[in-house]
Amino acid sequence: MSYPRVLVVTNCTGEKRFKPKNKLQLSDFQDSQLLISRSKQLSEFACCAGEMYTGAQHLRLMEGLNLLREVGKEKNNNCDITIDLAIISAGYGLIDEYKMIVPYEATFNTMKGQELDEWAQFLGIHDAFEQLIADYDLIFILLSENYLRALNLPVKTNSNQTFIFLASWGSSEYIKINFSQHFVLPLSNAEAKHYGYGLVGLKGFLFKQFAQTVTQDIQLIIKLFKSPELFKEVINRLVEQKESYSVPLNLPFIDGNNKLKKQRSELSEVIPLPSIPPAANYHHGMKYFIPEWDDYVDPNFDFIQDQFTPNRIPHKDDFYAHQLFESPNYDGILVSKVVFDKSKKKQKAILQQGIHDYIRFSGEIIGDCGAFGYIKQEFPPYTTEEILDYYQQCGFNYGVSIDHLIVGKFAEKGIREKRYDLTIKNAEEFLTKHSQYGYKFTPVGAIQGWNPQTYAEAAKAYIKMGYTYLAVGGVAREKIEKIIDILLAIYPYLTPDIKLHLFGVGRLNAVPIFRHLGVTSFDSASPLRKAWLSPEANYHGVNHNVYAAIRIPQANHRNKKIKELIQFDCKSYLSNSIIYLFIITSFWKWEIIQILEQEALKVLRDFDENQAYIDLTLETVLTYNQLFVKDRLLPKYRFMYKILLEDKPWKDCDCVICQSLGVDTLIFRGNDRNRRRGFHNTYMFYKRFKALLEEMDLREFNHKKISNKSQEEMIKIA
Ligand SMILES: [Zn+2]
Repeated sequence: MSYPRVLVVTNCTGEKRFKPKNKLQLSDFQDSQLLISRSKQLSEFACCAGEMYTGAQHLRLMEGLNLLREVGKEKNNNCDITIDLAIISAGYGLIDEYKMIVPYEATFNTMKGQELDEWAQFLGIHDAFEQLIADYDLIFILLSENYLRALNLPVKTNSNQTFIFLASWGSSEYIKINFSQHFVLPLSNAEAKHYGYGLVGLKGFLFKQFAQTVTQDIQLIIKLFKSPELFKEVINRLVEQKESYSVPLNLPFIDGNNKLKKQRSELSEVIPLPSIPPAANYHHGMKYFIPEWDDYVDPNFDFIQDQFTPNRIPHKDDFYAHQLFESPNYDGILVSKVVFDKSKKKQKAILQQGIHDYIRFSGEIIGDCGAFGYIKQEFPPYTTEEILDYYQQCGFNYGVSIDHLIVGKFAEKGIREKRYDLTIKNAEEFLTKHSQYGYKFTPVGAIQGWNPQTYAEAAKAYIKMGYTYLAVGGVAREKIEKIIDILLAIYPYLTPDIKLHLFGVGRLNAVPIFRHLGVTSFDSASPLRKAWLSPEANYHGVNHNVYAAIRIPQANHRNKKIKELIQFDCKSYLSNSIIYLFIITSFWKWEIIQILEQEALKVLRDFDENQAYIDLTLETVLTYNQLFVKDRLLPKYRFMYKILLEDKPWKDCDCVICQSLGVDTLIFRGNDRNRRRGFHNTYMFYKRFKALLEEMDLREFNHKKISNKSQEEMIKIA
């Protein structure tokens, strides 16, 4: 049979993308002329309904819908699967997801009895719904109690239609279906607990869960159409099977055209585990290593005067992250040869002091050659002997064999085989000489490849050579699915004594599956470096949201943009409000720029201490931003800063950085703030990582307990 046409009906949510002060009110919807003129006033905030709502139910539902549409496209080249969305809005009535709307404040949730019925009638919801569903076969209804009431069921339906309701226990009296098959999944706090998601948004979450199952088996849509009661079974099966952990990172997102449209929630759910037992080396747990790249700060930096400690000697007097925090936010550090090679002075110091003393870290340190540094060369610029000596002299705990990357244009046929063989040959020589000359550090065999098979074959060969620590390289920029495929291919060769490192991949949502498939350590600098390298995801909030830091660059001659502003004709930098800067002299320009800069800093600190309103803070900061941000980007900054100032995420963090720096942690300005923000991100990352591991251990423990028990039972029965 062909696929049933699917319609999903949901309600509007109070949370909306934009929150202008003059948003539409109920009274605006009562008068069509007024509605037109008021909507015009709000036209800059217009967007389609599908993107306007930002409540949890809506976001999860949209993610589910997108999944279904994707799988529909993929698996059904010839016939499209229809999956449409309708929204019951307490302002606009029944609308589809593409209708352009502006922000409003209206909800059925707070209306009572007669008022609700009359308003629903005024909006014509009952009739519109009846008309709409006539075109669909399988209809999901995800409505809260008052919105269900607004439908005023029953409506005309036919015996070839199937309805699935996700509704609260209390709303059953409003569900009246005469002629069609239907199934109701009642929801309360007990269900929220059972499914592991808050009651707010639970309907959307369950729909997404269902959509994820459909991606495995698209025929489920047909099965459900025939037997809607299967819905509960599908969801329950998923809950029982899926090892679900939650580490969402929600990222406010503005699209390329600077229409402040989307709120991207990225990296939401953890990748489910495959149904194979944990790898043989699972008991090793998992370690997080951070790559070292001279990430230190002046411990006594003066944030008010913006000055370094007088007479400070960089590096010597500076602090690494692990010196600032009570305990390090990583299990170990990775130091690449390229970092060592940065200067002769540095080389000398490290060789003299040893790597542990140099970076003041007593934990484990891995040394590698930093293959990205010589990717373009035909051969790695080091010999095995020299690298072995280097690891030994510096006192590394682990040393990685010399590999050659097989990525991009170096993964072409003809080149890749050479690099692959060379990497294996190096690993062999590395291990032989390591034992021959009795080096102290643990040798790690670096693996490269261009598909799962080549990686697996190398892993197999290394284990045979005698390696007990392998490291998978060349996957830092790979999609997670590809990395999983590689790990699945290596998995059968892993024995309890083998450790496996993953180079440059540190995604929290993949931690459980990586560990399950045998990864015992990984390194990533991403949480640290995003603090200043990402255009909009600079700060990881305790609430899982990611925030953009507020750009207040230093107004000094080193700042390129500000220098240009002073010296040259600066039309492109000036917006109308400060056009007068044109006609005054450089000297005065300079004065004014510095005043604007200082005002921006001051207002942020006042705001932090509840001494300034959010609007004033925002305007003052943006006035300074206008100097160096292109006009067309200003709305984006306004949007990002507003979210930040509304949430004040630094207030919720208990880390030593946020506690001592306050709002300065969120100011994008110079190494001492930006790196500290990165340290905070690393702190959040490590905390979440450890929590995930604990959760995994607990599950594994319970799992073993259950299987031991059942074994005991079996023995008793026997
Ligand atoms: Zn913090």
